[in-house]
Amino acid sequence: MVSKALADAKMEPFWLDRSDRPETLPPLTAPRKADLLVVGGGFTGLWAAIQARQAAPEHTVILIEKASVASGASGRPGGVVSTSVMHGLSNATRIFPGDIAALEVLGQENMRGFMQTISENGIDCHAEWGGELNVAIDDSQIDSLRDEHALHLKYGHNAVFLDEAALAEHIRSPRYKAGVWTKDVAGTVHPALLAWGLKQLALKLGVEIYENTPLETIDETGGRMRVTTPHGSVVADRVLLATNAFMAGHRHIKRRIVPIRDRVLATEPLTDAQMAAIGWGNRQGIYDMRTQMNYMRLTRDNRIIFGGRLAYAFNGDTSPPIDRERETYAPLAGAFFETFPQLEGLRFSHAWSGAIDLSTRMAVHFQRYFDGKVVYAGGYSGFGVSASRFGARIALDILNGSHLPESKLEFATRLPSIVPPEPFRWLGAQITMNALDTADRKGGWRLPWLKFVSALGFPLH
Ligand SMILES: Cc1cc2nc3c(=O)[nH]c(=O)nc-3n(C[C@H](O)[C@H](O)[C@H](O)COP(=O)(O)OP(=O)(O)OC[C@H]3O[C@@H](n4cnc5c(N)ncnc54)[C@H](O)[C@@H]3O)c2cc1C
Repeated sequence: MVSKALADAKMEPFWLDRSDRPETLPPLTAPRKADLLVVGGGFTGLWAAIQARQAAPEHTVILIEKASVASGASGRPGGVVSTSVMHGLSNATRIFPGDIAALEVLGQENMRGFMQTISENGIDCHAEWGGELNVAIDDSQIDSLRDEHALHLKYGHNAVFLDEAALAEHIRSPRYKAGVWTKDVAGTVHPALLAWGLKQLALKLGVEIYENTPLETIDETGGRMRVTTPHGSVVADRVLLATNAFMAGHRHIKRRIVPIRDRVLATEPLTDAQMAAIGWGNRQGIYDMRTQMNYMRLTRDNRIIFGGRLAYAFNGDTSPPIDRERETYAPLAGAFFETFPQLEGLRFSHAWSGAIDLSTRMAVHFQRYFDGKVVYAGGYSGFGVSASRFGARIALDILNGSHLPESKLEFATRLPSIVPPEPFRWLGAQITMNALDTADRKGGWRLPWLKFVSALGFPLH
């Protein structure tokens, strides 16, 4: 059943497979000067360029992108968005318990700004605000889910706990035992339409964008930064490295980032009968509670986007050939039909992978280079579609001297842990991925191993 369902899937992101995909802009072919150079045309880079021009319209802001806007993670995610800027409330409580109240306010502000930019600029990114649903897939997760619910209530979220019967009113899957539905200011967007809309907005605000323009070298010259590209160069006062899991711009970025990949499937559009068979009337973005979790959402034309299954390649290759092999998506397709057995016969239209910038913090951090003239903002760990707007705002402030009160909080000044280099990184990742895949079913040595990895900083259980 699984191989038949995958037989005709295009091996490319559903989000980018559109006839209205914008033209790629010409590359940089001359020497240029700028107040700010942004490297990377994903959400972090686009939001940074937009906010920089909004704050100082007289400044020259240049954005260079190695391929095309949204070709990285930003054109490939599930597209579920919510208020947290630290990968969810539980993670925020784990890493910065003292700043949680401030982070909650910042997260709310960030989402208000996110929604306002979309609506004021008419960016039609198919935004739906049905909320976010966190589900337990076995009884042992229900207590954690109750804690999660209590935490949401404590911080004023409009969240409801759903037992198995109540959850079935929202989504029908034999796997789901309970859920927490966070109703407000969360939902789903079409990520590529969002990125392309932000690109248009950036151009309208006067940002110069050069695509097919990779940063090749970066060094200091007379107190400014000089970045070279294959056919041009930029001398800039400040440089933001918004290069996510690709880590371009400084060789030390990789000490704190593990570039892993995640797989995603899109189904063909569901019929009305198939929609009725799964429920999902409120169209929430859904995550399950495991680390090697599945997440899913509906598209405007009622496809299911279904993701999960992390993997790591030696030396952090972000796009190994194996990710274009159809059969490697079979386990994910199998998980889909375990989740929705009533959809037997449904076929997948697209299959793809995307690079995730995993950090022990599981959320954005800021690495400073060249006496603070260069900042890398990344480490979102698969939770950055809306948090990237916040990451960009803080990165800009750090580049400008950290004047905002929030830039003095621990999240902006402290770094996540260093992760061991190769070959230990690869070895550790293989054992961990294997343990995550089977821990739920078989337990045994895998659980102590996952506890050990958690003690190193990654929250895996
Ligand atoms: C499969 C998957 C599912 C996800 N699901 C969700 C989700 O449901 N919700 C959520 O909130 N987050 C999700 N995320 C995470 C989210 O997509 C990212 O956190 C976010 O898109 C990061 O944006 P970014 O701009 O930092 O990185 P990217 O979008 O990766 O942008 C980095 C850019 O830098 C460019 N670049 C690299 N090297 C160079 C160079 N040398 N010169 C110039 N440019 C360069 C790349 O081409 C790329 O375009 C998911 C991610 C993946 C991969």
